[in-house]
Amino acid sequence: MSQTEQQDPQKKSDNFFNKNPLITFALFSIVIIVLFKLFMGDEGQLATQTNAVSKTQVVSYAELKQLIATKRIEKVEIGQTYIRAIGSGSNSKIMYTTRRIFGEDTNLTTLLDSQKIDYKGFDETNWFVEMFGWLFPFLLIIAIWMFFASRMQKSMGGGILGMGSSKKLVNSERPKTKFEDVAGVQEAKEEVLEIVDFLKSPGRYVELGAKIPKGVLLVGSPGTGKTLLAKAVAGEAEVPFFSVSGSSFIEMFVGVGAARVRDLFEQAKKDAPSIIFIDEIDAIGKSRAAGGPMGGNDEREQTLNQLLAEMDGFGTNTPVIILAATNRPEILDPALLRPGRFDRQVLVDKPDFQGRIEILNVHIKEVKNDTDTDLEEIARMTAGLAGADLANIINEAALLAGRKSQKTVRQADLREAVERAIAGLSKKGRRIDEKEKRIVAYHESGHALLAETTKGAKKVSKVSIVPRGLAALGYTLNTPEENKYLMQRHELIAEVDVLLAGRAAEEVFIGEISTGAANDLERSTDILKAMVQVYGMSDVAGLMVLEKQRSSFLGGGMAQAKEYSEKMAENMDSFIKATLQERYTDVKIRLEAYRDAIERMVELLYAKENITGDQVRDIIEAYETENGMETRLSPKKSL
Ligand code: ADP
Ligand code: ZN
Repeated sequence: MSQTEQQDPQKKSDNFFNKNPLITFALFSIVIIVLFKLFMGDEGQLATQTNAVSKTQVVSYAELKQLIATKRIEKVEIGQTYIRAIGSGSNSKIMYTTRRIFGEDTNLTTLLDSQKIDYKGFDETNWFVEMFGWLFPFLLIIAIWMFFASRMQKSMGGGILGMGSSKKLVNSERPKTKFEDVAGVQEAKEEVLEIVDFLKSPGRYVELGAKIPKGVLLVGSPGTGKTLLAKAVAGEAEVPFFSVSGSSFIEMFVGVGAARVRDLFEQAKKDAPSIIFIDEIDAIGKSRAAGGPMGGNDEREQTLNQLLAEMDGFGTNTPVIILAATNRPEILDPALLRPGRFDRQVLVDKPDFQGRIEILNVHIKEVKNDTDTDLEEIARMTAGLAGADLANIINEAALLAGRKSQKTVRQADLREAVERAIAGLSKKGRRIDEKEKRIVAYHESGHALLAETTKGAKKVSKVSIVPRGLAALGYTLNTPEENKYLMQRHELIAEVDVLLAGRAAEEVFIGEISTGAANDLERSTDILKAMVQVYGMSDVAGLMVLEKQRSSFLGGGMAQAKEYSEKMAENMDSFIKATLQERYTDVKIRLEAYRDAIERMVELLYAKENITGDQVRDIIEAYETENGMETRLSPKKSL
């Protein structure tokens, strides 16, 4: 942690007040308040002028006249609004004050003259008060400005306004993370292994003249362990780890990001061998062409240029390695990926079945678990989830166990945690009304039946009508096959059929449709659209691709400009609509054929709220044997 202090001699000359604008602000306010107290009050003013006075007494005008008439006054001063008088003799320490009565002055002066008492006028307005009246707004503005400047400095790491910048710019740590903490990404680990070796003994490589990559781009979906892997590289090599997020460079002021990049590299080079980790590098590294119609972002461009300059600036033998993470490498500025910069990409992929078991094994060590917990079952249930999700599931299971006052985490807790992770939090507290429950039961049974009776569809692992999260009133979980990268045409159509079956079941068995199928319809439409536009699986476009494939990294790509004719668009729309209608009609027929099986499923769902895939299969198989039916219908050849 000690490497973070900056030792720039030029900046040491900054004085205390510049370094601590907040304290300055506080002192400033106190001084102002004290001055006001001192000079604004009447008593204060009088006390400075007549130090003999120890007491002030407010009297009425008549009383004052009486005092004058009886010679108990020595001296009188008449201001614009009040009169003050110093007592004489034994009363000399008292000051009497009263408000003036206009028109009475001549009477009073006559009286004073007759008593031979000294009197004069005085100016009530105080130059100090006047001055403050003018100055105060300015002082306030300066104080506020100083306050914000100090805040800004904090958030930007200094440099602005010529004020001190001895703040910590980036966090540097010496992580304890080791490769064994990163599971399920064996290939990625192997790829960064040589970096560790280089950082441990750079001299050996330099002597050989070997060129070590300066920048390595870790590519993968969120939560796959990119940060973890970068830390593990630092941990294994036992070097300092400077970590920043790309988005933190983009601040309010142009030039600040670039300054921060400079500082970051300065520190890292000083502490070399070291690692710089830039999370979300796309925030600064976005392609300049992708700046949108508004043109580029100056701040980002400056920061990016600075980063490129820094990377080019030090030779390959300086043992500083820059690791950067992104899940959208395709939007990065090509300049970043040129040789000598981030010229190496390491894929940190979502884990497969075996990988998930390994990751679960890493994280289960953090909790106390039953000896008979079966992580393979959990891994099987969590296809498609990333390492961070799996870590969360273990933690969630431990929380569940804690809530139930158990001593250990049981398999049931893990299962429940998985379900929560997949379908959002269970809303046990919410009462579903009976009508809704009936609709959901038919809807989900429809999905389940089609999933089990359609060739190429994914098998059902669970059907539930317990509402989860905000969106899903019920859900049907499918178990996708492991390591499946290709989808055949009939499998895509099977998926459409399964999706449409929810809505179809509502129509067939309840006689009225509901809003509950919105998401299903959206997804089935998307599949058909992709078949036309991307996969070349329709007569509409034939083999012609209407939309370039986005990168395989999720969420990638920007909106694509349309590259086909209006006529093509119309044909595509009518194709999608007609196909959906055709599949929907077919699905309804098949649901009708299984009417009784659906009713049994609904009955069981109603009773238990959750049923397993095996229970679904039992019901269907029993129904099929009773009716002498052939299992596994295949969808009609229609497209
Ligand atoms: P990313 O940087 O890719 O978004 P992180 O490295 O921040 O993901 O992962 C967040 C957390 O999830 C990690 O701290 C770790 O607990 C867990 N995790 C993610 N991937 C893995 C993995 N491959 N092995 C073990 N734990 C992982
Ligand atoms: Zn549905």
